[in-house]
Amino acid sequence: MAQLHPRTELSQESIFARMSRLAAEHGAINLGQGFPSNPPPPFLLEAARRAIGTVDQYTPPAGLPRLREAVAEDLGVSPQEVIITAGGTEALHALAEALYGPGDEVVMLEPYFDVYIPQTRMAGATPVMVPMRLTDRWEVDFPALEGAITPRTKALLLTNPYNPTGSLLSKAEAEQIVALARQHDLWIVSDEVYDELYFNEPPIPLRRLAPERVFTVGSAGKRLEATGWRIGWIVTPPGLAPQVAGMRQWSSFCSAAPLQAAVAEALPIARKEGFYAQLRESYARRKDLLEQGLRALGLKTFSPAGTYFLTALLPGLEAEALVREAGVAAIPGSAFYTQHPAPKGLFRFAFCKTEAEIEEALRRLAGYLKVRT
Ligand code: GLN
Repeated sequence: MAQLHPRTELSQESIFARMSRLAAEHGAINLGQGFPSNPPPPFLLEAARRAIGTVDQYTPPAGLPRLREAVAEDLGVSPQEVIITAGGTEALHALAEALYGPGDEVVMLEPYFDVYIPQTRMAGATPVMVPMRLTDRWEVDFPALEGAITPRTKALLLTNPYNPTGSLLSKAEAEQIVALARQHDLWIVSDEVYDELYFNEPPIPLRRLAPERVFTVGSAGKRLEATGWRIGWIVTPPGLAPQVAGMRQWSSFCSAAPLQAAVAEALPIARKEGFYAQLRESYARRKDLLEQGLRALGLKTFSPAGTYFLTALLPGLEAEALVREAGVAAIPGSAFYTQHPAPKGLFRFAFCKTEAEIEEALRRLAGYLKVRT
């Protein structure tokens, strides 16, 4: 009997989809998968309603020209270097296909965002994981990072701000990463989908430090609270966009045309009207609510500098039992580790949910912890 290819071992349900499914099945508050409870801003929705029926056919694989221009304007890069993708995930996939293959190694950090490993393996390359140091905060372990680089290393792949830790590279760390990449002649894939979600200092776009070797990934879904729209982008080093866009044309060919048009209209409005600053304020409140609530329960938390994720230690608790018995879904830290052990009791909570949901999750957790002690 014919068999599916062995690479379908990569087909197991993602931890995010699994925890969302379990949360729905058990009526749990879903602080697992990172998608906002609030709707996207009206200026985005209205632009989309106008675009459907007007912009309905294929766009070029590199994207609707006016969206490439809007992204370029927002980021201060050339539109020639911008490619529109079906979300950050397709952007990362196109880059994996364009940058590495069999025999190549890609160095990344643990804990990591789940898609990095299957995409690297689908491209035939080998992921090499370097654990982050966890003291009172998450830190890149530079000696370990440098030690992981071999003559086969092709690229460094990281997020900034970082999912799941919520940490942010300092200027010195960003410079150190770039210096390593230059020294060993590596590409850097910098997943910056949370670029507008920071609480103090903004993140440093790595491409500013090394435009010749950094590929940046961005996301309208993250910025404009519409994660299901699947509109993302890549900024390539000068001259490389045609080949990368040429690779992505063989997967989805182009992203949803009317949604590209809507995002093109919304990006300058979001910037001009201070939408991101409002979003940051609102997320800072929800972060504090969750963090103070968890601390009041006696739990150790690691304050995020960016993203809408908070990591915390809940020793002795198990994610599926938490969903079933406490009615709260969170992502178990073990899901972010494959080559090293996860810190004991590590969980990631998403706070892109309403204050009412966060409060109810805290009440449920408090009740659950009381019963268990
Ligand atoms: N980026 C989101 C998270 O980390 C969801 C990702 C997904 O489900 N593919 O939770």
